Amino acid sequence: MVLIKDKEFVPYISAHVLKKRIEELASEISNDFSEGPAVLIGVLNGAFMFLSDLTKNIKVPVEVTFIKVASYMGTKSSGEVKSLIGLDLDIEGKSVIIVEDIVDTGLSMKFLLELVKERKPKKIAVASLLLKPDALVHDINIDYVGFEIPNRFVVGYGLDYDGLGRNLPALYQLK
Ligand code: 5GP
Repeated sequence: MVLIKDKEFVPYISAHVLKKRIEELASEISNDFSEGPAVLIGVLNGAFMFLSDLTKNIKVPVEVTFIKVASYMGTKSSGEVKSLIGLDLDIEGKSVIIVEDIVDTGLSMKFLLELVKERKPKKIAVASLLLKPDALVHDINIDYVGFEIPNRFVVGYGLDYDGLGRNLPALYQLK
């Protein structure tokens, strides 16, 4: 059990299980993007650990960049998405993979997909470590999903609760 501020979290997905699954996703991506360099767009802040481990296991040339949006306050989605740091790389005509930590309602990803599409990439794929299918309300396609999880708040492995918990090497679920 870990205590973060006022909330207790219990172990959920171990570092070992995360590692194995991320290796599988990286191998699928390496096969699917063998034709040329792809651009990985990491969604800050939550995806930094997933992006790092995923990237280390991808066997084809990739560029890496970041984007930052915000929709969450505490443990609830605010229902609004804002872009805080935009794309600094020219992605026109390139294959891109948006790398996200978790898709919950899908609002952030819908917003990101629209933002990325405006830059005219050749192909867009989405990789999300976690997906909460029961919370999904927007019609989006996630090409690479690490784990489908129930509609409970999780922290660790890059994901935070009010800014804390990102350093935990495994995933924890709200008790
Ligand atoms: P959506 O826009 O899909 O509702 O929410 C996506 C964003 O909300 C994620 O990028 C993440 O920052 C945050 N989020 C959604 N569910 C969780 C959760 O269970 N734990 C944490 N730490 N963040 C979450």
